[in-house]
Amino acid sequence: MGQPRPCTVQAEQTGSAAAGFLLPPRSCWFHGKITREQAERLLYPPETGLFLVRESTNYPGDYTLCVSCDGKVEHYRIIYHNGKLTIDEEEYFENLMQLVEHYTKDADGLCTRLIKPKLMEGTVAAQDEFSRSGWALNRKELKLIQTIGKGEFGDVMVGDYRGTKVAVKCIKNDATAQAFIAEASVMTQLRHNNLVQLLGVIVEERGSLYIVTEYMAKGSLVDYLRSRGRTVLGGDCLLKFSLDVCEAMEYLEANNFVHRDLAARNVLVSDDNIAKVSDFGLTKEASSIQDTAKLPVKWTSPEALREKRFSTKSDVWSYGILLWEIYSFGRVPYPRIPLKEVVPRVEKGYKMDAPDGCPPVVYDLMKQCWTLDPVVRPSFRMLREKLQHIRAKELYL
Ligand code: AMP
Repeated sequence: MGQPRPCTVQAEQTGSAAAGFLLPPRSCWFHGKITREQAERLLYPPETGLFLVRESTNYPGDYTLCVSCDGKVEHYRIIYHNGKLTIDEEEYFENLMQLVEHYTKDADGLCTRLIKPKLMEGTVAAQDEFSRSGWALNRKELKLIQTIGKGEFGDVMVGDYRGTKVAVKCIKNDATAQAFIAEASVMTQLRHNNLVQLLGVIVEERGSLYIVTEYMAKGSLVDYLRSRGRTVLGGDCLLKFSLDVCEAMEYLEANNFVHRDLAARNVLVSDDNIAKVSDFGLTKEASSIQDTAKLPVKWTSPEALREKRFSTKSDVWSYGILLWEIYSFGRVPYPRIPLKEVVPRVEKGYKMDAPDGCPPVVYDLMKQCWTLDPVVRPSFRMLREKLQHIRAKELYL
């Protein structure tokens, strides 16, 4: 496969791509006529796989695919050639949607595959986009039954959608809804048995947003652990929850997606006792997370607290705390340490003791997750392999 080149090279003579092409109407990732610099600002802060498409300023009639990769933005020229669109002159597409879809599945020579669209703002655009991609649900077919939880940004309700029991996150505030729309759009790209599955989205004209997900009958993992306790939950069960979460995180890691708020309260348990990570990314762009004062201090890695440096490795730190929560049956981390003393002590290298009865091999993993240098922390892949080894050899008994 030929190597598509960032579009700094001299143009060949091309026809007008605009003529007759099916443009995604107010589509999320299509930003129209913006400059190279504007595109780079929109793709800041860097996040590998974040992308947008703009109209080329240098070559009117062509488009440019702008992709963030390892801290810098690559600009790939999309050439109109013989009635079709191409980046590498090997793969040709009928329209931009097909092109984006192709590079979403496979980098195919780009610096990365396309992971997350940089969204055009506006709920109307979002509604169009969700309809187009098949994620928009019909409000008339959704029955809201009762409130089951209170989230920071709105109520969680149990509902019925065409005969299926569902959970519905209702976000009333327009500004908050804007942030959640961006993340719901990311959720449409993620699918794993240990991630709470998005079923669809309803964006209302008035700015309300409903995020409909699979219903997790046994509620949050932290409540589950506290209510059952050690008399009910054996070591096999705790290890299975740890593995469930680790597998979801390995999937997010492989897709360059950072959760930022991994904790037992954000893991839900299904009717058949499968733990699934929830709220992935939902809080990412919401206002509270911008405000360092409101970060969940006890779960957040030192570098993320200090420099807002969130990464898969900061998720690994949180995963270590989550393991501690699992093995202490839902206790609040850093017991008996006043909140304001937690960060200074952790920065000096303090680590929590093993929870009572925690297998040493599992405690060892927690401590590895709490390595101060993020580079030295294990990956989720390594953690998953070690947990599987512990399970296979029954080292947790
Ligand atoms: P959240 O806003 O995600 O923190 O959710 C608040 C609470 O609502 C959770 O602690 C759960 O008890 C409940 N909840 C959230 N999502 C679901 C779901 N998909 N299924 C069942 N309960 C849920």
